[in-house]
Amino acid sequence: MRACQLIAHGQPGCFELRELPALEPKAGDVVVTVRACGLNHLDLWLESAGLPVTVPLPRTPGGEIAGIIAAVGAGVPDWKPGDRVAIQSNIFCGECEFCRRGEESICLRGELLGVGRDGGFAEQVVVPARALVRMPTDLDFRTSAALTLAGSTAMHMLTDRSQVRAGDWVLAIGGASGVGSAAIQIARQLGARVISTGSTEAKRQLALQLGAEGIVDSTNPDWPAEVRKLTGKRGVDLVVEHVGGDVLPKCFECLARGGTIVTCGATAGREVKLNLWPLFVKQQKLVGSYGRNRRDIQATLAWAAAGKLKPVIDSVFPLAETPAAFAKLRNRAVLGKLVVEP
Ligand SMILES: [Zn+2]
Repeated sequence: MRACQLIAHGQPGCFELRELPALEPKAGDVVVTVRACGLNHLDLWLESAGLPVTVPLPRTPGGEIAGIIAAVGAGVPDWKPGDRVAIQSNIFCGECEFCRRGEESICLRGELLGVGRDGGFAEQVVVPARALVRMPTDLDFRTSAALTLAGSTAMHMLTDRSQVRAGDWVLAIGGASGVGSAAIQIARQLGARVISTGSTEAKRQLALQLGAEGIVDSTNPDWPAEVRKLTGKRGVDLVVEHVGGDVLPKCFECLARGGTIVTCGATAGREVKLNLWPLFVKQQKLVGSYGRNRRDIQATLAWAAAGKLKPVIDSVFPLAETPAAFAKLRNRAVLGKLVVEP
């Protein structure tokens, strides 16, 4: 089976399309024929050795997978070849205290698919059966793969790590990104009024098409003032944040009293300066969110099948052109998701 493997760090784009032995499932595992795999910032971090873990190479990246079960190992009673599946990329042990209470994304022995083990920019992937989520029958692979990681991350942020009341103001950072584009749609479905940000006119137009009623230009250094203006100076109740760096402190400037910032990423920087005074005086919350649980993926795919959530797909690449997909995301010339179809 062919896999697009990262073979070196140091400069971007060190990939090689390799012919590897066909995968065999061990007990408790399944082999999945990958039909589509979405690209995420996590993959860029792997490529640039930017993760706080050392990853041995070669490694096949790709954690956002939809496919068909090709083979099941011993002790897998619930699945059979031919089943259409999405995969929880936060591979979890199923036994630790956090897994036992359904919080598999913070498993003590968690491993990221496409980072700690080989992922989906390949014709096949092997995963523990417990990581599988059944795809709704009328959902296609491309749609599923474009939502399984980023869309369900937004679902986890908006329905698990925070609550949205009808009429709330929600600020979705980066409305043209995978997380941001899903966050706009989910927040709208939950009855919120949504504002989003974008660095180009095309990105801002996309956020408006997805349901944002207000949009601000994130290249304007005073964009938080624009957000406050759109809410009659009140500020927003919830910020869905995934950028970090300079953006997170600015989100506090947009936040109403009693409001919450939920954050799941730090593409612009992991260390931020935080003014505690407004945080406690205004009784605000800063909430971390990591990945998702399988129930978030189930909800995301069910919403997609019901037409309540649509991924924005920028472009689709064959397996051999996976490096071109990485280059496109690296250059930030993307509206929505990039998907590889092996
Ligand atoms: Zn666990």
